Amino acid sequence: MDVTASPLSPRRATRQIHVGPVAVGGDAPISVQSMTTTKTADVEGTLGQIYALAAAGADIVRCTCNERAAAEGLAQIVPRSPVPIVADIHFHVEMALAALEAGVQGLRLNPGNLRKPEEIKLVASEAKDRGVPIRIGVNAGSLHPEIYERFGGATPEALVESARLELAYFDEVDFHDVKISVKASSVATMIAAYRLASETFDHPLHLGVTEAGPLPGGLIKGTAGIATLLAEGIGDTLRYSLTADPVEEARAGRQLLEALGLRERRGLDLIACPSCGRAEVDVIGVATAAQEALAGLGLPIQVAVMGCVVNGPGEARHADLGIAAGKKRGHLFIRGQIVRVVPEDEMVAALVEEATRIAEEGVEARLAARDVSAESAAAADRAALLEDRGLDANHVTEKVNEIRRRTRE
Ligand code: SF4
Repeated sequence: MDVTASPLSPRRATRQIHVGPVAVGGDAPISVQSMTTTKTADVEGTLGQIYALAAAGADIVRCTCNERAAAEGLAQIVPRSPVPIVADIHFHVEMALAALEAGVQGLRLNPGNLRKPEEIKLVASEAKDRGVPIRIGVNAGSLHPEIYERFGGATPEALVESARLELAYFDEVDFHDVKISVKASSVATMIAAYRLASETFDHPLHLGVTEAGPLPGGLIKGTAGIATLLAEGIGDTLRYSLTADPVEEARAGRQLLEALGLRERRGLDLIACPSCGRAEVDVIGVATAAQEALAGLGLPIQVAVMGCVVNGPGEARHADLGIAAGKKRGHLFIRGQIVRVVPEDEMVAALVEEATRIAEEGVEARLAARDVSAESAAAADRAALLEDRGLDANHVTEKVNEIRRRTRE
């Protein structure tokens, strides 16, 4: 027997959609998702969690959009998030429209509680116009009552029927950018539902055991359901639903995919901000140069490349090391604390040098060796940048005004 051959069934063919820059379905790598637990209106807290999730392995992050303040928060979060943001919508069609206005890269609709066909079609039309995909997120615990009645409970067939009905509404408005989930807290129900969904639809499937609970039981239930399906070639993206710090969800998803040989193991973990109206440097160029310079060194650390010193060190405060740009200078930070300021054209070299020293000496020793004047230099650059570009470099006010106009509150 060839023990190096993959024991997994070939992946089932699905169509491909894009959540922002992340491809889902087809031959795209299976992606990891998680969901923030902060109030979405708490922009800095939510962004901090999103960065932590991205560093732990999340490719896509979902945030609740349950009230106008959350939609307004999303307008600020989306341009600064390192990964695409999906808005989670329950009950309120106007929150779906507001989230689209805020610029989210995906929506999740629950067909169990957003039931009016005209409203569903309105959201699908608006999502289509903006090129934003929607997940039909069926959940056994909140199944449409009529379907529950008809099938005598939240059976696998009932879950798939709920998704099929929603898809029919989307078809009416010629919207096809869809992925589907049919989650249940029962592992057996969930496995049967996804097998049936895989036979019924060619849309990408988002796997998950819902309300799996705290560690370690939640991890075991999630793995039992998700890994079984992945081994059968079913699933294009996944989320562990744990009653725990969501970082555990992202980590578990990533580790499961690595264990199954479905994603490559990570040594160096380089994350970069998406760049936004505040960027002071070509983030893509610096990140690419840093990736090339650091990749061969095999350092097991997280490194962040951030476009501005106004928000960068705070957003990426969990990273071992990072660099943020400002006023033609690079601000080197370790775990969010500025340790050194270097000329802009020395950013990558400084990053490589510091990464090597952290790997040799450790984070604490490098923090102790910091240049004590660096923090005040960074504070001066931050103040100057705020003065130059104002508080609203991402034109959030415009989006918020539109969200207010379109929502009833
Ligand atoms: S440029 Fe600054 S504010 Fe914009 S995403 Fe990058 S670090 Fe965040």
